[in-house]
Amino acid sequence: MPVIDKERPVLVTGASGYIASWIVRFLLEEGHVVHATVRDKTQTEKVAHLTEIDSRESGQLRLFEADLLKPGSFAEAMKGCALVIHTASPFQLNTKDPQRSLIDPALKGTRNVLETAKHTPGVQRVVLTSSVAAIYGDAIELESAPGQVFTEDQWNESSSLRHQPYSYSKTVAEREAWKIAGTQSEWDLVTINPGFVMGPSLSQRTDGTSTQFMQSMANGQFKAGAPDLYFGVVDVREVARAHLLAGFISEAEGRHILSASEHSILEMSHMLRESYGDKYPFPKKLLPNIFLYLFGPFQGFSWNFLRRNLGYPLRFNNRKSRAKLGLKYRPVAETLREHILQLEKDGLL
Ligand code: NAP
Repeated sequence: MPVIDKERPVLVTGASGYIASWIVRFLLEEGHVVHATVRDKTQTEKVAHLTEIDSRESGQLRLFEADLLKPGSFAEAMKGCALVIHTASPFQLNTKDPQRSLIDPALKGTRNVLETAKHTPGVQRVVLTSSVAAIYGDAIELESAPGQVFTEDQWNESSSLRHQPYSYSKTVAEREAWKIAGTQSEWDLVTINPGFVMGPSLSQRTDGTSTQFMQSMANGQFKAGAPDLYFGVVDVREVARAHLLAGFISEAEGRHILSASEHSILEMSHMLRESYGDKYPFPKKLLPNIFLYLFGPFQGFSWNFLRRNLGYPLRFNNRKSRAKLGLKYRPVAETLREHILQLEKDGLL
């Protein structure tokens, strides 16, 4: 149970991403020195929001270049760090070559970062951004889960390269992380397993899945009706806060499911309507399942996915995150409202 040295720098991988940006912001607000890795430092527009936060907060930001697929490229950034927060991993749901675009960066990247941690003196803890996607594969599995609720004890055993490849990438990456952690005793591993992350972004990027989902809700993509699909939903600020808590609370251990509450897309739409009325064409009804079976395959929804997910609610037990990390969840309606506000403010709707 290490006492993490707060005076030493904290490494955050994939620092310009949606979740990581909030982690960097909270660390800088608390006065930490942050070693932030990005793929390409010359893409200044991707890090402008971080340098702006750096200029007004007490912490100090140092940018490094590192790529998940380049062995050893995290070594320089990790030097001197006590805490490593590994968030970088592609989050895409539609991809033609999942091995190359998802599995390789997730698995080889985790191996790359954690093997470097093994050879970097002074690393005390690694916090990995995993996902509930490493806990379950398809919503139908809830029916056979003990007590009909997903907990940290479960592992996704149904996803594969062909079926739910993003979930598969998160599962193999987290399994690899635990395997590597078990081969040494210098640092311990703690994982954060969030549901679908929503809430305001610190940057104006629109290439992330969370932001794209919110844009599609507001721009009428589901106007004809919402697919009867369910998510555990959690605010990006809670997810970021959980990484700091998992990093600095000595007793933190194991996996942590993060979900404020579970909702269908239609329920989320009803919450948005409560806030915004008819300002945006949020869906008002369910899309009949037959339409999804007919047209879903052209949109990247296989019949197997639909059969195992359509109409099956989800339930996650978030007790450990509240009891052990002391995490407090804001209501999902507030998260959704503030995500739309940010997109409006940034002219992205
Ligand atoms: P995001 O904004 O797309 O961030 C992904 C990050 O990974 C980006 O910083 C990206 O770098 C980096 N990355 C991708 N490929 C890389 C490579 N080859 N080398 C180095 N960096 C690479 O997505 P996010 O939603 O914040 O996701 C962050 C983490 O949270 C991921 O591990 C994801 O699986 C996990 N997660 C997300 C959600 C969610 O709903 N958003 C839910 C559960 C778990 P660039 O900035 O250079 O593109």
